Amino acid sequence: MKILAAIAHGPRDPFEIVPCELSAPRAGEVLVRVHACGICHTDLAVKYGHIPVQMPKVLGHEGAGVIEQVGPGVTSVRPGDHVLMSFGSCGECANCSDGAFGYCDHFRAINLFGSRPGGSALSRGGSELGGHFFAQSAFATHAIATTRNIVKVDADLPLDLLAPLGCGIQTGM
Ligand SMILES: [Zn+2]
Ligand SMILES: [Zn+2]
Repeated sequence: MKILAAIAHGPRDPFEIVPCELSAPRAGEVLVRVHACGICHTDLAVKYGHIPVQMPKVLGHEGAGVIEQVGPGVTSVRPGDHVLMSFGSCGECANCSDGAFGYCDHFRAINLFGSRPGGSALSRGGSELGGHFFAQSAFATHAIATTRNIVKVDADLPLDLLAPLGCGIQTGM
């Protein structure tokens, strides 16, 4: 589907907001229509090269929005559900098994330096575009997340206020 995303190119260039293509959610994934996204220090640290993540990439990791589509096998949420997006985790390492998802052995690969298994969900003009930042890349009108990094919230709560719970507030706490 066609979406708009803010692409980070590097320290000197401003975010470029352009049409991109986003693929459909796969097994265990969801498509979220992003209503709000916080801007965290980590987004800017990556953009300015303080964290060596490969560019160009769509950043954004405090996304909040509404489920638009679910991938095969997803039963925990359905279209219309309001969700916050947070960091990803593997769910299988010793720390994840203990419920300490923030200490996932694969945290850096899943959230910062890796890519979506099987290829990026994002492309532009037929070329693959870096995404999957914190398993979401929410500086966009739509994002692919996984059932592991979304939290359902009541539909009458203000998504723009809740969005920073996805990283900044819980990290500070
Ligand atoms: Zn893990
Ligand atoms: Zn953050």
